[in-house]
Amino acid sequence: MSATILDGTRIAQQIRGEVAAEVKSMAAAGVRPGLAVVLVGHNPASEIYVRGKVKACEEVGIYSEQITPLESASTSELLAVIETLNRRADIDGILVQLPLPSQADSKRVLLAVDPGKDVDGFHPMNVGFLSTQRPGLVPCTPAGVMEIMKRSDIPVAGREAVVVGRSDIVGKPAAMLLLNANATVTVCHSKTHDLAGVCRRADILIAAIGRAGMITRDFVKPGATVIDVGMNTVTDEAEFRKFFAGNAKREEAFRKKGSVLIGDVQPEVAEVAGALTPVPGGVGPLTIAMLMFNTVKAAKMGRGKQAEMPRV
Ligand code: NAP
Repeated sequence: MSATILDGTRIAQQIRGEVAAEVKSMAAAGVRPGLAVVLVGHNPASEIYVRGKVKACEEVGIYSEQITPLESASTSELLAVIETLNRRADIDGILVQLPLPSQADSKRVLLAVDPGKDVDGFHPMNVGFLSTQRPGLVPCTPAGVMEIMKRSDIPVAGREAVVVGRSDIVGKPAAMLLLNANATVTVCHSKTHDLAGVCRRADILIAAIGRAGMITRDFVKPGATVIDVGMNTVTDEAEFRKFFAGNAKREEAFRKKGSVLIGDVQPEVAEVAGALTPVPGGVGPLTIAMLMFNTVKAAKMGRGKQAEMPRV
């Protein structure tokens, strides 16, 4: 048996198309959703992520603005930036690109973002809305995970779901979304006993660990849906060989770039799982698509209307 590969790139394109259509119809009513991205200092990885977000905004017609405080910015300077953005009527979404430099208090800065403009869904108010099933802004990556399953006709209600990872950004909100969708949910972490045994109970297994290829076929019940959130860069030749020996396409990519991206799930899991998200091209593209979705949702909620697009 070979797993159905769930094409995140295609699903993300579909969502971006829907968002673009929504932005167009809002424009007819004189409203243009706006996203502000706060990028502090010069972290090369953050700069790449922000470029991708700004480009996505352009493609769907969302106004975007980059605010680039100096690397040395203090917490109070960043709080002042957030306060200004909170007050601006043309900005519906505020995204603070993490990590912030060490002198800045990330928690205080994130807490200052108006919950109605918190398109990352990290504010405790939105966390509370999610856990009490009230309308709010949901973190983009776990929201994307749910969209992949919904749009691939993978049933969730009544099924056994296991989430490996309990971060505030991925694991916990993913578990809450699954619970809200009536799955029976188990959350695992680094202290879980018999991790493989617990994972084997799963009809739906979500891996959000940050460890290259940790989930092997022994963790997977035959036919299960496996969603790989992990994004790990492999640069070591021996490690590369362990995962991709004999894979001509990956060999070529490794030769060219000196690195490849691998998820938390071993490629061999495709022989056991019923459905599997690839890395790259699985959950990753959904994250930006859901950021676009959230910005439009924030614009609609902030401008006195509930989001009309399907809720996640
Ligand atoms: P994180 O904050 O580092 O959390 C990792 C979680 O995995 C923790 O809860 C940790 O448990 C658990 N864990 C670590 N080692 C484990 C082990 N040996 N056994 C069981 N559990 C273990 O990471 P994150 O921010 O959630 O991200 C997870 C992965 O998703 C990373 O690869 C990240 O790059 C990727 N990611 C991808 C996207 C995307 O757009 N595709 C977005 C966000 C993140 P403890 O709590 O006990 O320490």
